[in-house]
Amino acid sequence: TWQRAAAGLAASRSLKLARFGDNMRYVAVTEGDKTEAELRLGVQVNTWGVNELADAVAAASSAEVDVLVAEYEDLYDVVPELRRGGERHQSLRDGAAIELGLRAFLEEGGFGAFTTSFEDLGALKQLPGLAVQRLMAEGYGFGAEGDWKTAILVRVANVMGAGLPGGASLMEDYTYDLTPGRELILGAHMLEVSPSLTTAKPSLEIHPLGIGGKEDPVRLVFTADAGPAMVVALSDIRDRFRMVAAEVENVELPAPMPNLPVGHAVWRSKPDFVTATTAWMAAGAAHHTAMSTQTSMTTWRDFARMTGVELVSIDETTTIDDVERDLALGAVYWRGRH
Ligand code: MN
Repeated sequence: TWQRAAAGLAASRSLKLARFGDNMRYVAVTEGDKTEAELRLGVQVNTWGVNELADAVAAASSAEVDVLVAEYEDLYDVVPELRRGGERHQSLRDGAAIELGLRAFLEEGGFGAFTTSFEDLGALKQLPGLAVQRLMAEGYGFGAEGDWKTAILVRVANVMGAGLPGGASLMEDYTYDLTPGRELILGAHMLEVSPSLTTAKPSLEIHPLGIGGKEDPVRLVFTADAGPAMVVALSDIRDRFRMVAAEVENVELPAPMPNLPVGHAVWRSKPDFVTATTAWMAAGAAHHTAMSTQTSMTTWRDFARMTGVELVSIDETTTIDDVERDLALGAVYWRGRH
């Protein structure tokens, strides 16, 4: 576990992160101090105009797209309308071109993580969905809406968990089942959840997206496997970063969700919903997280020690009193160290 945390540290120290466009407007939680990120974590965070990515996408050849489409048809349950000969097949080809362009851009620049923003898509035909999902599953870090802090966590989680069953993904608290005593959290995103969270065969589908103003995007649809997971958020609390890590239990879907055609996970909080969410908000943790099904609290604690980043943990033993005391003591301890 210590070696995995050390590998995470090494990955962070050598990480170059490409942002396509800026953060989503009016959202403070996805921003932060990029100088602190380089000082503390060793990560270079820089921005490229999205049309540089669009140029790379336009450079993808028809023959390369053919090969990738055949790979999709091999790996996933592709809906008939997207298959070769299907009426919306061109959308799948456009999605494949986005993957080819994005991959080429990242490889050429030596980037291990990236962000996109639905508010800044330039000449791209679709919000990148399928491409982002597949790149995360290969080990890249990703954050949506310009969220570079979460992209760092997803990259580090992928490296720390390498070779173990499961994976790492961008995740977002989407909504809650507030049935008393049986509360659950539904995590999802517009498109961008990594298929490394499932051992089932994802379905490759196309549906409208109400934001971004582009063509309907292709995406992998699946439910994350049941089992233990970590959700980790990185907050910039102005004089330092704070990592908040929670142990959770992914569960089977309690009911079908035909109206949410994106990758998703449903989990139960520890020690219970009220304690976990109270602690989460008291710690200033975010709605975007990295979900990891390969790492444990010990891995993240070691990583936090190695990088000198504050860690607030939420697990089976957590009480609200504990968290309030940790935050109060941390305010003194961490201010003295920076
Ligand atoms: Mn989001």
